[in-house]
Amino acid sequence: MEDLDQLAQEMQQVLYSLQEYVHCQKEEGVEGLPTLLPEPVKSKAQLLTEIRKELGDCKRCKLNSHRKNIVFGTGNPEARLVFVGEGPGGDEDIQGEPFVGPAGQLLTKIINSINLTREEVYIANIIKCRPPKNRNPEPDEIKACEPFLIKQLDAIQPKIICALGTFAAQTLLETDEKISRLRGRFIPFRNSKLIATFHPAYLLRNSQRKREVWEDMKKIRQEY
Ligand code: SF4
Repeated sequence: MEDLDQLAQEMQQVLYSLQEYVHCQKEEGVEGLPTLLPEPVKSKAQLLTEIRKELGDCKRCKLNSHRKNIVFGTGNPEARLVFVGEGPGGDEDIQGEPFVGPAGQLLTKIINSINLTREEVYIANIIKCRPPKNRNPEPDEIKACEPFLIKQLDAIQPKIICALGTFAAQTLLETDEKISRLRGRFIPFRNSKLIATFHPAYLLRNSQRKREVWEDMKKIRQEY
């Protein structure tokens, strides 16, 4: 009983101290007590929407003056596999979606060949606006645009990133090694594993390379 009385007294003491604290805070102009509630965790879809908003009607590099549409990226925000190409071509520029031309149709077949659909993966490019006459993106353009791709990858956190073609592989891995040496093996990249393979547009011109791409896809399927 004595213990209970002592506990009650201590509780009362704590309440008095708290009241006094709140009173002092009010006198100093503080309207409410600080809350320690954690920030709500954002979904990957929300994070991607925020990145798209941040990109806005981007004029961070000179490619903005040639484009019809920004090609942000498309697919499943929860994707375990992300494909990264070089940049939009003519069809992509018109439609605002990556890989929708002939090379895109081949990419769809490649994705289907490992029993996945375009809706299950995510597809993006190193740069988001079409370079004039489909020339290679220039260093200042990559510097301006690539950070947004990196933010997208960090939001999605895919298990596997497949770099399509020399340009994407060399840019992401910051190397000038040839695609023939880079392809076919997993390389740690941020929180993912990156594997490079030939670009579908290259495959359209060099069908003898299809077997190697199929080998790379089998590795992706096993790792997936
Ligand atoms: S390529 Fe990227 S950085 Fe350049 S204008 Fe387009 S979205 Fe902006």
